[in-house]
Amino acid sequence: MIYFMNMPPLDKLIICPRCHTLHRKIRLKDADAAYCDVCENMLYTRHENLLDKGLAISVATLITFIMASSFAIVRIEINGIWQDLTLPFVFVTLFKEDFWVVGLIVSFLIFFVPLLYIVIYTFVMLLFRIRRGYETTRRLLIFLAELRKWNMVEIFLISVLVALVKLIGYAEIVIGTSFWALVVFILLDIYLTKRLRLADLWDLRDEVYHVHR
Ligand SMILES: [Zn+2]
Repeated sequence: MIYFMNMPPLDKLIICPRCHTLHRKIRLKDADAAYCDVCENMLYTRHENLLDKGLAISVATLITFIMASSFAIVRIEINGIWQDLTLPFVFVTLFKEDFWVVGLIVSFLIFFVPLLYIVIYTFVMLLFRIRRGYETTRRLLIFLAELRKWNMVEIFLISVLVALVKLIGYAEIVIGTSFWALVVFILLDIYLTKRLRLADLWDLRDEVYHVHR
């Protein structure tokens, strides 16, 4: 914690992302939100049952990700041959065709990063639940913020859609089970990022381990 003369500790301050005004953080009641008094942008919220909600949603997100990578996203028929396109198939094919660097980058961005992110997120929520791992959760939350920047599974879905549009007329295309699992995964992932933000998890961490600021 860094202190300046006559100033509260930095983690009691919050900067408005829209107008860059500095505010002092106050403790909110359940389901309340704090707004910037200059530009009325929402600064932070206090969730009802963040612990239970975060755990339930992260487990659901993990399950949808496993479903999204286990079955066909789309099935394509070209010259009478049906090909199942699964999430791992995309980078396994790149490896088979000796595109090692591209294969590694793609597998990292669309598979390993989103999987690792959601596994760690769930693990952090579990540690909060059993009130263990004070230091471990601190390190993992910092790691999650780094990992967040590398998750590009949304871009992958958009590129699949673009490829499908281009294939219309040339091939028979059937949407597979994993396509919908992938859509649900992305929606849950966006909810986790935009609503149950990492900043809220830091506040939850203080509460869970009874850190008084
Ligand atoms: Zn503002």
